Amino acid sequence: MRTYANKTCNICGLRDIQPNMFRTKKNVAAYTSKDQIGFGTWVGAVFGGKVSNRRIQKTLFANNKRRHTAHRTVWMCEACSDENDVDEDGPGMVSDIGDFLSGLFNYCLVKIIQGVLIIGAFMLIGTLSA
Ligand SMILES: [Zn+2]
Repeated sequence: MRTYANKTCNICGLRDIQPNMFRTKKNVAAYTSKDQIGFGTWVGAVFGGKVSNRRIQKTLFANNKRRHTAHRTVWMCEACSDENDVDEDGPGMVSDIGDFLSGLFNYCLVKIIQGVLIIGAFMLIGTLSA
């Protein structure tokens, strides 16, 4: 009788013999830090801070890119591997372009908000000095 090494499921912690377990790619959300653009960054971007501007661009574009690289292959039980299996082909051209466009869209949105707020500020100044 053959004995197999036990493997532990990376998701639920279930232990089973190796033939019952699966090598599965897992999405690791290790690099998504949502707090990189704070209120201060937006205010800085609106009132001419070049550093804040660059930081917003970097965050919008860089985060989209990094999300794809965060795959790890781990052992999983059958149930967890069904739920967590990641497309073997990995990031294709379509999703890259999609990310680029969403980054571009976000960037345009930043510029539009900037413009609106700057116009608003000028109108406020005009009202005060009238
Ligand atoms: Zn499991």
